Amino acid sequence: MRPALARIDLDALRHNYRLARQRHGGRALAVVKANAYGHGAVRCAWALADQADGYAVAFLDEALELRAAGITQPILLLEGVFDAAELAAVAEQGLWQVVHHEDQIRMLEAAPLAAALPVWLKVNSGMNRAGFVGPAVAQAWQRLQASGKVSDITLMTHFARADEPQVISTAEQLAEFDAATRELPGPRSLANSAAVLGWPDAHRDWARPGILLYGADPMPAEGNGLRPVMTLESAVIAVREIPPGSPLGYGARFVAEQPTRVGLVAMGYADGYPRTVPDGTPLTVDGQPSRLIGRVSMDMLTVDLTHLPAAGIGSRVELWGKEVPVNRIAAAANTISYELLCNVKRVGVRYEG
Ligand code: PLP
Repeated sequence: MRPALARIDLDALRHNYRLARQRHGGRALAVVKANAYGHGAVRCAWALADQADGYAVAFLDEALELRAAGITQPILLLEGVFDAAELAAVAEQGLWQVVHHEDQIRMLEAAPLAAALPVWLKVNSGMNRAGFVGPAVAQAWQRLQASGKVSDITLMTHFARADEPQVISTAEQLAEFDAATRELPGPRSLANSAAVLGWPDAHRDWARPGILLYGADPMPAEGNGLRPVMTLESAVIAVREIPPGSPLGYGARFVAEQPTRVGLVAMGYADGYPRTVPDGTPLTVDGQPSRLIGRVSMDMLTVDLTHLPAAGIGSRVELWGKEVPVNRIAAAANTISYELLCNVKRVGVRYEG
């Protein structure tokens, strides 16, 4: 069997959720959208089912997948609904919805609902992506109340730069949110992972941690005690010695300067390992530090075994996980851990813990 594998450590996931809840206080929606950031939404939701206060997903189909798998806790749709049929499904399945746009208020006003629904009203406090601004927040709140279709309203916002503790943007967003909601009652939800870890002023009634659940610290320098959940690994499937001056792989990007022992590994960009990383990107072989050499291919990549004489066919290669932080690979690929984790596909998946 092809050895390319994502191991998912569900104990680590539970540890990280507990840590988020302790750091934040109050309650926490586990953000499991995008197939739990590539970790498997149903398995992750079930692993948290005895401790999670609820879940957040992006849109209806993601919530229906969890309901079909027997998840009964609240599930919030972060994008809200797109039409009346979705609103009917939300009511039927007992889902929670974000309202970030006038059209969504109109849909609620027009909906023939048997019972009033909980709503999370989104405040645009400075990210300028979604939500109501300034006085429009109170107007939206009044309309929702007056519609008779809404049972209770949670006020929420989302931060653009909470992972940058040195910039003022988050403090400005906090002030803007508080100003726009000063007169309005009801619970609040502000903190994503970075704000759970780094912005105590943003700790209110509900946290919405995503990336930290999966053990990728949005502020890696801080030593927050998160445990990586996904280990992406494979094995050496062939070994070859190349003499000095020999090129290796597509584009001959790497050229050996000395006799080089090359390990071929079953893992490529079609599996989600980024093609853009340079020579020298870290990985481990049988737990020993080594490096990628040559361009990443669709199904394979090549690693340097010159200094590891005991390594050979069958040696385990960790691309990221407990030995190689996914943030290191994200930095090498000029992207973020989120994108790498979401993009893992085609490999075997093994749940542990
Ligand atoms: N809340 C909202 C509205 C989001 O869109 C997201 C993710 O994009 C999150 C919370 C979780 O963010 P993070 O993964 O940075 O914790």
